[in-house]
Amino acid sequence: MDYQLLAELLFPNVTETPDEVQARFPYRNLPEGAVVTRMAPSPTGFVHLGNLVQGMISERMAHQSGGVLFLRVEDTDAKREVPGAVEVLIDTLKHYSINFDEGATHDGDSGLYGPYRQRQRASIYHVFAKKLVSEGKAYPCFCTEDELTAMREQQEANKENFGYYGKYAIWRDRSIADIKAQLDAGMPWVLRFRSEGSIENQFKFDDLVKGKLTITENDIDNVLLKSDGIPTYHFAHAVDDQLMRTTHVVRGDEWLPSLPFHIQLFQALGFKLPKYVHIGPLMKMDGTSKRKLSKRKDPELALTYYKAEGFPVDAVREYLMGVLNSNFEDWRRANPDADINDFKFSPKKLNPAGSLFDYAKLTDVSKNVISKMTAEDVYSQLLAWAEEFDADFAQKLASDKDFAISILAIGRGGKKPRKDIAVWKEAKPYMGFFYDEYLEAPIFDKKFDKTIVKTVLEKFIAGYDPADDSAVWFDKVKAITEQIGFTSDMKAYKADPAAFPGTVADVSTFIRQAVTGKPNSPDLFTVMQILGKDRSLARIQKIIASL
Ligand code: GLU
Repeated sequence: MDYQLLAELLFPNVTETPDEVQARFPYRNLPEGAVVTRMAPSPTGFVHLGNLVQGMISERMAHQSGGVLFLRVEDTDAKREVPGAVEVLIDTLKHYSINFDEGATHDGDSGLYGPYRQRQRASIYHVFAKKLVSEGKAYPCFCTEDELTAMREQQEANKENFGYYGKYAIWRDRSIADIKAQLDAGMPWVLRFRSEGSIENQFKFDDLVKGKLTITENDIDNVLLKSDGIPTYHFAHAVDDQLMRTTHVVRGDEWLPSLPFHIQLFQALGFKLPKYVHIGPLMKMDGTSKRKLSKRKDPELALTYYKAEGFPVDAVREYLMGVLNSNFEDWRRANPDADINDFKFSPKKLNPAGSLFDYAKLTDVSKNVISKMTAEDVYSQLLAWAEEFDADFAQKLASDKDFAISILAIGRGGKKPRKDIAVWKEAKPYMGFFYDEYLEAPIFDKKFDKTIVKTVLEKFIAGYDPADDSAVWFDKVKAITEQIGFTSDMKAYKADPAAFPGTVADVSTFIRQAVTGKPNSPDLFTVMQILGKDRSLARIQKIIASL
């Protein structure tokens, strides 16, 4: 067979040589050990936690080694593409601080190794496809869908492996005359890889996460180019990772079954094989068993979920880093205020079987992260969240910035900061009562007569002086307690509750409910200081009038 002739027949318009293409993408001038890696998502419109995990791992490996992270859009499957998906992807990853050094952007591409969208690279793939054909490593296949279906049915009936191989690879050794006749008749064709592998053979392979793997050779003649000339993922990624000078491929372990083919492909193309980091899936507990997070069952798989709930980006990243590297939590305890990027991430510490995602733990981490932020920081992040998800609340926050910040400063700083909120969504229920429009009517405990509540409130107003410090303020509350026959002695009350109609805690609650509408709130003395005398007392007056 004259493979050179076949290559010309199939790709008459391809004139560039592989060496010329390679020269257009020079080797990168980077320090020894620098990792060049990429995120290579398909633009399906759904950005999930797995993307973020892959992004964080890739970003850390690239940037902590002085390397490069780029974004390549794998849009070879036009059927799955959703309009606007690339933009959603870029924005979402940016929101989570996955910053690319080069690649697809909102307005085209940035970087010297583009185009970074695979459909725009069709002519590049054809150069390498032509090379493979000219070396007898790829050939056209004219099988129809019906023929392929019949083949599959036969394989099923014979209990044989599926795929295009051995006696089923009917176009593998056809004559030039046969091929030419089909081409002349305008028949559509796909380009297939000529596999020299055998499932009888195994070889060893080292994955940075999975460790030493024993791999069975691939014997299938997989498709490299589809009938429209667009490559399959397999072929496109090999060519791209070579030309973009990728050193490490970080991807989900659902790609492991394709690895034998990928290794063959790199070898056939004369490319240096990158290092592989195959990440196990994210799992969750479902009853007593673990299962993969699922798009259908688990809303928390989608990254939009975390944004809408209002998890700070730092909290999600902090939590995930702990999931990915078990030594992260110890490091964090030793370096409570360090930048997360000072932690040395290691792919070797990833659990090869996958990681367990624990929503409750994420919430705890988030509470912690928020409790350590400054009030100004909380304000700006909360405002940004509210602007997108609660316009009315955003308007309140923005209308008096100092007021909002003084609310958010309650219990902040010091050794044991308050941990009131885990997500921005919880901020309104927590602090909404400061705003008159969100203030709810209190529901007093029915156990107490209305007149008692009223008396307490009247006495409180009469004695209130905003100049009091918190100790004097509380002494006054205790004095009212005694005056109405309740007790301030909680020990005595606990020993014999029946001996007292109520306690100082009940009295405080009446006042708290009158001011905040709720039986629980941050420190009431501070709340009243922030609200100011007039607003605080007006609220209490209004309640008195309603009793
Ligand atoms: N386009 C593939 C995906 O979305 C990329 C796999 C890879 O990173 O090589 O899963």
